Amino acid sequence: MKEGSIKRDIVTPGETLAVIEEFFPGENTLEKKGEIRSLIVGLIQADFNRRVISVRKARKNRPLLPEPGDVIYALVQTVKDGVIAINDIIEIENKGVLSVPFTGILHVSESSSSYVKSLYEILRPGDFIRAVVVGRMKGPPYRLSIKGRDFGVILARCNFCLRYLRLKGGQLYCGRCKTTLRRKISLYYLFK
Ligand SMILES: [Zn+2]
Repeated sequence: MKEGSIKRDIVTPGETLAVIEEFFPGENTLEKKGEIRSLIVGLIQADFNRRVISVRKARKNRPLLPEPGDVIYALVQTVKDGVIAINDIIEIENKGVLSVPFTGILHVSESSSSYVKSLYEILRPGDFIRAVVVGRMKGPPYRLSIKGRDFGVILARCNFCLRYLRLKGGQLYCGRCKTTLRRKISLYYLFK
């Protein structure tokens, strides 16, 4: 066992840390048949002066959760009664991919700064969006906004033939149906 190299080692319960010829058993360890074993999940702490080996509790890894102000990528599930349900918030920008996808909601008031007649002018089920988390509510469904030029659809399919829409002259265009389709488009739209 090399000095200095063991401090960061994570161990699990039952794992052998050392033998009693090398160390004395310290906190969160157990001596069994001449071996010192860990009782917990944690980090090995070796005191080479006192020859004591112990295990420090590892700080719980906080799962990645959306917070107000976070920019997220998500999929639109339903568009109904003035509310857009977001099925899968799958990634937080600059933070990472979520191990468990979260749900979100988007009110018509958070969708555009200009007047909107129908939510279908903004988003459709299956659209992939870039949005920002608003409000203070902890836990899903998270309140989202797509106000502003950076936010909105970043990838969408044609309402009729499901082909991916291309951004053309500031509008989404289906090359097969030869038609433009309305959406609230983000500057980050992917298919240009
Ligand atoms: Zn089409």
